[in-house]
Amino acid sequence: MSRSAHPAGPRHADVLPEGHYPPPPADLNALDPKVWARTVTRDKDGVVTVGGIAVTELAERFGTPAYILDEADFRARARAWRTAFGNDADVFYAGKAFLSRAVVRWLHEEGLNLDVCSGTELATALSAGMPAERIAFHGNNKSMAEIRRAVEAGVGRVVLDSFQEIVRVAHVAQELGRRQRVQIRVTVGVEAHTHEFIATAHEDQKFGIPLAGGQAAEAVRRALQLDGLELVGIHSHIGSQIFDMSGFEVAAHRVVRLLREIRDEHGIELPEIDLGGGLGIAYTSDDDPREPHEIAKALREIVSGECEVARLRTPRISVEPGRAIVGPTAFTLYEVGTIKPLEGLRTYVSVDGGMSDNIRTALYDAEYSIALASRVSDAEPMLVRVVGKHCESGDIVVRDAFLPADLAPGDLVAVPATGAYCRSMASNYNHALRPPVVAVADGEARVIVRRETEEDLLRLDVG
Ligand SMILES: *Cc1c(COP(=O)(O)O)cnc(C)c1O
Repeated sequence: MSRSAHPAGPRHADVLPEGHYPPPPADLNALDPKVWARTVTRDKDGVVTVGGIAVTELAERFGTPAYILDEADFRARARAWRTAFGNDADVFYAGKAFLSRAVVRWLHEEGLNLDVCSGTELATALSAGMPAERIAFHGNNKSMAEIRRAVEAGVGRVVLDSFQEIVRVAHVAQELGRRQRVQIRVTVGVEAHTHEFIATAHEDQKFGIPLAGGQAAEAVRRALQLDGLELVGIHSHIGSQIFDMSGFEVAAHRVVRLLREIRDEHGIELPEIDLGGGLGIAYTSDDDPREPHEIAKALREIVSGECEVARLRTPRISVEPGRAIVGPTAFTLYEVGTIKPLEGLRTYVSVDGGMSDNIRTALYDAEYSIALASRVSDAEPMLVRVVGKHCESGDIVVRDAFLPADLAPGDLVAVPATGAYCRSMASNYNHALRPPVVAVADGEARVIVRRETEEDLLRLDVG
């Protein structure tokens, strides 16, 4: 392979130690089904299509950057989770991953429940017709107004996150003449990320009440004393982008130990256990996520095994996948702008978005894939860094990516697996107008969250 003769300049790897980077993929035009939404393919001209529509058409109609969401894939994943967990367990979609009214309707239709963690997420869910009893309300600092709104609406559960909140929710419920179903969120001292978990993590975090030192047991004692509360279960959420189930095993073990202590002390068996979300997806071809039915089977076995040992009836399990449902269903479509080869360093490819539509690379060093989407190419691979257009050198979309060496301004590129925590974390940095979310299904495309306009932005600025 020529080291410097292609139009976009020398390859990045030229200045880095031998073997530092993986070799380029065998076929740059291939679309790995692991990272792309299910209906994504290339048409006979080599253009990427989703739901039967070419990205060139989508770019023309809706502009770039844009999040393109495969509705059939979203529904299929939601349904797969629902089916895997069956009727004696509940799946709560974590709305913070991506929430819009269309998504709420799909979830409702597919039989899922919904997690929200702010009054405005709650308002979105209610406005799209999600029955309140299927909504769980989370958050480490719920305001009194938010608590009131949630209790008044009749949410199915409030997840209590602190001692103060136990009293606040009880107070509001009593004031409204209600008895609010609640779970207590505990921190189990397990921290899980990707392929590793720490069973002895510090409970040094803002969420939940530590099991350590009998604090969670004390929270249970207090909640059981308050008339406004109906304590139905214990909640634990251990991390994000998790592939290894053993973190859940340790967490379940510790939660079940608490359930046993509660039975021994109070003579009651709490009927619910929530193991949170955090299940991983494939951002690159190196990631190997598990299927929902494998996860469901593993979690059931873990919980029932632990309960058998503790001689407890197995409680109703619930889970809260966000990323695992919506993450893989969308990609971000960008147009290539400036291509800047820096002799002896690397080539920077700039796209027309960046950290305002995907903060995850800057925030978490997240890895993404990217593909030339508006055509295929037989040019040799070049290793590039894909960056955004913001005034910030950390504005990186894909740190190290292979794109064809004949890449040119005006080409469309697509970054897969951007359905979760991209639009929901989008910002107006540099007064960027947040991109639309376009849902595509069966040859039809429709905007479900429209692009922000200059007017939207100026309307907030009251001068
Ligand atoms: C963030 C969060 C989730 C969802 O996490 P994912 O990684 O998107 O699955 C679920 N439950 C709680 C309590 C969370 O904070």
